[in-house]
Amino acid sequence: MIFDTHAHLNFFEFDEDREDLIKKCLAQGIGLINVGTNFNSSKKCIEIARENVFTSIGLHPSNIDSEFLKSMEDLKQTEGALEKDFDYDKYKELTRSKSVVAIGECGLDYLHKPKGTAKKELFKEEQKRIFEKQLDLAEELGLPVIIHCRSAFDDLYSILSKRKIKGVLHCFTGTKEEVERFLSLGLYFGINGIIFKIDSEEAIRNIPLDRILLETDCPYLSPPMFEERNNPLSLKYVIEEISRIKGVPIKEIEEITYKNTKNLFGI
Ligand SMILES: [Zn+2]
Repeated sequence: MIFDTHAHLNFFEFDEDREDLIKKCLAQGIGLINVGTNFNSSKKCIEIARENVFTSIGLHPSNIDSEFLKSMEDLKQTEGALEKDFDYDKYKELTRSKSVVAIGECGLDYLHKPKGTAKKELFKEEQKRIFEKQLDLAEELGLPVIIHCRSAFDDLYSILSKRKIKGVLHCFTGTKEEVERFLSLGLYFGINGIIFKIDSEEAIRNIPLDRILLETDCPYLSPPMFEERNNPLSLKYVIEEISRIKGVPIKEIEEITYKNTKNLFGI
């Protein structure tokens, strides 16, 4: 068995064929962790969970309700709802479902930010505050964290280095130096189809095999040789590419990443 540790089959893009797809994945030996990005999409993950289809619940930084994000026309909010704050108790309630194995996706995203120093600072502070709350919940429950980070590695490092958090840097796009920094914190690295779009060979070569997790981030980041809407069945292309870069047989990549998934998420 292999695992797509970061799928969004909870999203509306899969409304038409979600059940078929989940069955197909399981039949091909692909387990799933569906990842929530706000309260409703987290709840949806729980609804579609079953054996080998797990859940992560959290509030994505792009789903935080701010004037700036609302002003951005090109930033389409997946599953709609923006949230003013991370409602700790409401989310904690969701973790009563046995399918919940992680908190996230949560983190920091500074790729698009408002103009003006004061506004920029406020924007970052708000993201950090909401991220910290989710780290609190993860710590309280002893759960790993699925972290989203874009253009914010310094702030992420300074937050995480003050805590004892286990987790994964999902959709890792950092440099070799960032690999070293986050390895020192004991994090895992989620590798997906973005490796076909950016040059990440050197970074991947520097991630030890026992720290790599497979993911798709579907419906996004489809490998160029796969259909436009990504789904977990594209995982084999990512495995082939890691195998090529690392010079390690495909079978071995599958076995080690499966073991890593079990270690981190306790599944
Ligand atoms: Zn995602």
